Amino acid sequence: MTAAELRRPERLFDGYALDLDGTVYLGDALLPGAAATVRRIRQRGSRLVFLTNNPLRSAASYAERLSGLGIPAAEADVLTPLGVLAGYLGRRHPGAAVLTVAEPLVDETLAAAGITVTSEPAAAGVVVVSFDRTFSYAKLLLAYRAVRHFGAAIVATNPDPFCPTPDGGWPDCAAMLAAVEACTETRAEAIMGKPGEHMAAELLRRLAAPPASTVIVGDRLLTDVSMSRSLGMTSVLVLSGATTPGELASSPVRPDYVIEGIGQLLPADPPSGRPGRAAACRAAASRPAAPATSPGTSPVGSTPDGLQPAAGENPSARALPIAPPTGVHGDRVRLHAHPSRPHRR
Ligand SMILES: [Mg+2]
Repeated sequence: MTAAELRRPERLFDGYALDLDGTVYLGDALLPGAAATVRRIRQRGSRLVFLTNNPLRSAASYAERLSGLGIPAAEADVLTPLGVLAGYLGRRHPGAAVLTVAEPLVDETLAAAGITVTSEPAAAGVVVVSFDRTFSYAKLLLAYRAVRHFGAAIVATNPDPFCPTPDGGWPDCAAMLAAVEACTETRAEAIMGKPGEHMAAELLRRLAAPPASTVIVGDRLLTDVSMSRSLGMTSVLVLSGATTPGELASSPVRPDYVIEGIGQLLPADPPSGRPGRAAACRAAASRPAAPATSPGTSPVGSTPDGLQPAAGENPSARALPIAPPTGVHGDRVRLHAHPSRPHRR
């Protein structure tokens, strides 16, 4: 990919959704510039959510991992498919027992939410399929019987075909889901992760900003970029993970911006403008009644929470509208995991 085809955002946003695998880190190492970029986003007062389709860890575990890598994070900062799964099942299948094709964390998460997990196909109202490194014919057989013989619905955690790793990737949830769908001749009724509407709804709730002033940054066209387009958010594709320049060139999914990595996410030379909402609110809350500006003192020289802007940055360099978040059940959001295939066949 040539330098001319790479384009970094020339503006700042009120909300940032950062994919993890292939965007913030790869394997056990942060990608170049990740910690500094996150620090600068927070210094600006923008909201930030870490987003992953990987269901192998809990949000608390991801937060601990990020903190250990040098990016302080709390459980509420991380959104995973498991963070929306129990809520979906409770709304759509209240009281139903669930049979899982998954690793123990999925069972534990459901049980903690008061959902009955069963290994009896006849008792299952739903089969939950996930990224499962213990996948087996025995599990497939139970899922087959639950769906084919007893009419259980299929719900999947995420649509990813493989999970990017330094050693070339691992088969992900789509592989297990394909096996279950093939033998049952039944499509999943819902997929929790990106680009699905359930993850999208929770993401917008957490960012609490209008989609037009938010951005999704990720390494996959069909999840990260597709979800941002469906929601009316800006998209930034990083080439540090699953997508190669050749795949980007041949894809009909077009991101708004393409950068080599997260280190190029923020504008190199931000334009001046009004402060973003979060920074402005904090500034107003801490501002004395009398004008704060004194001769020779810049009113935007530092942020009210004591964080200093990075060298060369103008912390007031955002001018974004404030409006209620767009509900994902509105007309603007219609996400389908398999847009070219029938729901059930
Ligand atoms: Mg990724």
